[in-house]
Amino acid sequence: MEYCIPFNRPNIQGTELEFITDVIRGGHICGDGDYTKKCELLLEKHFSAKQVLLTPSCTAALEIAALLCDIKEGDEVILPSYTFVSTANAFALRGAQLRFVDIRSDTMNLDENLIEEAINENTKAIVPVHYAGLACEMDFIAEIARKHGIYLIEDAAQGVNAKYKNSYLGTLSDIGAYSFHETKNFVCGEGGALIINSSEFKERAEIIREKGTNRSKFLRGQVDKYTWVDLGSSYLLSEIQAAFLYAQLMNMEKITAQRKAIFDQYYDELQPLVTKGELRLPYIPEECITNYHMFYILLADHQIRSALIKHLKGKGIQAEFHYVPLHNSPMAKRMGYSCGTLPVTEDVSKRLLRLPFYNGLSEVDIRAVIKEVFAFFQ
Ligand SMILES: *Cc1c(COP(=O)(O)O)cnc(C)c1O
Repeated sequence: MEYCIPFNRPNIQGTELEFITDVIRGGHICGDGDYTKKCELLLEKHFSAKQVLLTPSCTAALEIAALLCDIKEGDEVILPSYTFVSTANAFALRGAQLRFVDIRSDTMNLDENLIEEAINENTKAIVPVHYAGLACEMDFIAEIARKHGIYLIEDAAQGVNAKYKNSYLGTLSDIGAYSFHETKNFVCGEGGALIINSSEFKERAEIIREKGTNRSKFLRGQVDKYTWVDLGSSYLLSEIQAAFLYAQLMNMEKITAQRKAIFDQYYDELQPLVTKGELRLPYIPEECITNYHMFYILLADHQIRSALIKHLKGKGIQAEFHYVPLHNSPMAKRMGYSCGTLPVTEDVSKRLLRLPFYNGLSEVDIRAVIKEVFAFFQ
């Protein structure tokens, strides 16, 4: 069935084609050209980041992070189970043991009070995920990482242009990772960025991204021929996608304002259902400035969620839930993780529902969604 109000629609700003035409005319469509540089500079400036490198995805950026931290068999990595698979895969690919830690029931972010008890002498990194563009308790988590001498890597896939206190997400750790996938706030189809905040990684990040060669040095005229010097892979974003992305990044504040309006309308107009005890709305801690990545509601139980999805579907409205907790996934079982309990993760994953949310979702359509949510509870 064709949905009348889909869950997501890729956001188009208008100058994407013009910039792509410019790339084609220029004759170079591979990575690291003018538009890649423009995007990287814009992100570095806007976010006060030391170094930003565009990548083919956030998944790829996390893989580079795992290589940079020399994650290997026997190492342990602390991460939430309530996240997208890439947070885990990047480290599992290097042979790491995953230590899934439960989340907070108010923000769905890694519970900072449970991290320290998961640390042992094999722990190499903590990977907080900023869920829905809301920051984890980064001061507290950074202090734990510092105290134990372990790496801190932010999965800021959903957190581009969001803040914790006075800093942008992705810049609060050793390494950050952004996503520009079609479902995120700023898009180019598939795409991402690696944020290097620690100068020890600067040179090696360029090498890993260039298939393990010192080609970046060669292009700057620092060596006369490039060669294989380290592990690496093909981790550049094509110029065609970088041109698309630049059209989006130029409008970052406008896009964020549009998303805020949608978020606020849902938030305000759903209040009566909160008062009646039917659902819970997102909570935004004082120290967080969100980028309005998504709008979710928390329902009383799994049955009500399934029934609401069905009701909305019948009215042509597509609502989605996530995540199937990673610690209970078939892969985690095959890797031998005993499916211990993470009570908050298991509870939230059964009750959380995401409503349609994309730039360009009209006031009329938002009202139609809200009307049907109210109708369901009548
Ligand atoms: C979307 C997402 C990713 C993956 O991003 P890609 O750019 O599609 O690789 C990773 N982690 C989280 C938390 C995400 O939401």
